[in-house]
Amino acid sequence: MSEICPTSLAPGSTIGILGGGQLGRMLALSALKLGFHIHIFCPQENSPAFEVARKYWQADFDDMTALDEFALSCDVITFEFENIPDSALERVSRHTPVFPDKKALQVSQDRLHEKAFLTSLGIPVAPFMKIESILDLALAMERLGDDCLLKTRRLGYDGKGQFAVQENSDPKTLWKQLNDQPAILEKKVDFIREISVLVVRSQAELVHYDVCENLHLDQMLRRTRVPAAIPEYIQTRANDIADQITVALDYTGVLAIEMFMMKEEDDDLSLLVNEIAPRVHNSGHWTECACITSQFDNHIRAIANWPLGSTRRHSDIVMTNIIGEDALNWQSLAADTDTSLHLYGKEDPRPGRKMGHTTLVLPLKDIMTPKN
Ligand code: ADP
Ligand code: MG
Repeated sequence: MSEICPTSLAPGSTIGILGGGQLGRMLALSALKLGFHIHIFCPQENSPAFEVARKYWQADFDDMTALDEFALSCDVITFEFENIPDSALERVSRHTPVFPDKKALQVSQDRLHEKAFLTSLGIPVAPFMKIESILDLALAMERLGDDCLLKTRRLGYDGKGQFAVQENSDPKTLWKQLNDQPAILEKKVDFIREISVLVVRSQAELVHYDVCENLHLDQMLRRTRVPAAIPEYIQTRANDIADQITVALDYTGVLAIEMFMMKEEDDDLSLLVNEIAPRVHNSGHWTECACITSQFDNHIRAIANWPLGSTRRHSDIVMTNIIGEDALNWQSLAADTDTSLHLYGKEDPRPGRKMGHTTLVLPLKDIMTPKN
């Protein structure tokens, strides 16, 4: 068992979270459970995390006075999404330590920087080209061929900011859709499975959760199952890649890495990294129900410099996102006694909005994992 470091944040201290969505809310619930106070900073009205905070600031990320006041009220600050402006992060870090370090945010905020960073570590990614003009786009379409995705470099999530590029796509129309935003053109890869790895790193430890297998519909996560139907050597390789990234970023907290599992010509399997998320992740929500310590608890433990909790999984799971009007079926969802229901307290079930999730919890079997 690890020792508690003398510089650990004591219960009763205040943890600040930039962003107030469902990830902030779940982090806050864990922090409360461990005896901390929570302060939230988020521009949106009625943010799900406001409800579980001792104090919140509903203000824009360019409101320096509000940022100063928020930061001065916290002992440590973290964030629940990667699109926090650099200026806001710089401002709060004048007063209060921020974890994870801003390097992870800078790398993951921009798809081009992210790919350059991964490539510099020798980690394979899908073929891509940088797009800054219509000419770049036409050239890249010629080089990479049909079936690509045009992705804005910044501010994309849940498939937003992405456009499918096919054989007959017109560069002019695509360029218009981009609206002058810098982008990348990325080759669509024919993966066998999508997986993600969740790593937790503190000053003294680095631990993983079991690899997750993810199903996306309309480029949005729909379902996660664990164990993933992947051989053991791919799990080991996925964890090794994750460790390499985590250490290179000198990371503190939970980091998620999304990967594609590919089949090579010789039938061997390989991995490409799709993207990294410097935060707790939707594909790790099952850890609430199937692990001794959830991803949310462990993120709080890491940033508070506590010993990390066990990531051991005691059940097999299938996590399903509740999206948009699916949430109106809460009565039948609640009636299923094998699943744990988690709703985020959002009022408007608009299409594509993540409203909650269910986790089907089954006895450990492991029969889904082939050995090679
Ligand atoms: P977001 O930031 O919106 O999550 P992603 O790059 O992860 O953006 O894309 C969302 C989903 O779209 C992925 O999880 C995957 O299912 C699909 N996708 C993205 N890039 C590719 C690609 N190069 N080849 C095949 N599918 C892709
Ligand atoms: Mg993604």
